[in-house]
Amino acid sequence: MFKVPDMSDYVFSPPAIQAIPIVGSDKLFPVNRIFCVGRNYEAHAKEMGAEIDREAPFYFTKSAASISMAEGSISYAKRTQNYHYEMEMVLAIGTAGLNVDIADAESLIFGCAAGLDMTRRDLQNDAKKLGRPWDTGKDVEQSAVITPIKPIAEVPSIAKARIHLAQNGETKQESDLALMVWSAAEIIADLSSLYHLQPGDLIYTGTPAGVGPVERGDTLVGGVEGVADFTVSFT
Ligand code: MN
Repeated sequence: MFKVPDMSDYVFSPPAIQAIPIVGSDKLFPVNRIFCVGRNYEAHAKEMGAEIDREAPFYFTKSAASISMAEGSISYAKRTQNYHYEMEMVLAIGTAGLNVDIADAESLIFGCAAGLDMTRRDLQNDAKKLGRPWDTGKDVEQSAVITPIKPIAEVPSIAKARIHLAQNGETKQESDLALMVWSAAEIIADLSSLYHLQPGDLIYTGTPAGVGPVERGDTLVGGVEGVADFTVSFT
């Protein structure tokens, strides 16, 4: 007879569930997986020396343990001399979906947040040259920075909104969601042909041009119009 395990059945405490506050609610959004879209703004692809591939979007992942709320201070990552910010709009999935049509894709969205896909650019660039995976460059502790999630009904637009980031008061990234190569609906539809999307999945939708390194002591102020604004510092 199957017995539901309780805490005493484990050799140590299971990892904590990563959970994100929801704007206007006492409930939390429990994080399942974190998907990230690569090269979703043409100007950013160009600054990285790449061309846009209009055949299909591509993805990498971060573990749920890499979540860090976009507030207070964040630790500068280990083993990097080139820790980059990437300002992004984040989709929070609330409904499961497999092989979803583009026309139905937005119905899977629970809400949106603003976030940073922090990246050990030196390790990512080394991995690219050697044809190795990006994991150590991208799946970094405290690297999936995110604001509280705003329910989708309260978000004015996920198709057109200013996305911006300033470093120590100087604007570094300034663009619009309208310039995403793949829209939110297209990303969800495509990703749902690779994975059975689940409530709790997060999708970082890619960064516009202007990425660059942070230093310890820096302050970043970022946001997506109508979604969220945040301030974080690095120590
Ligand atoms: Mn990114």
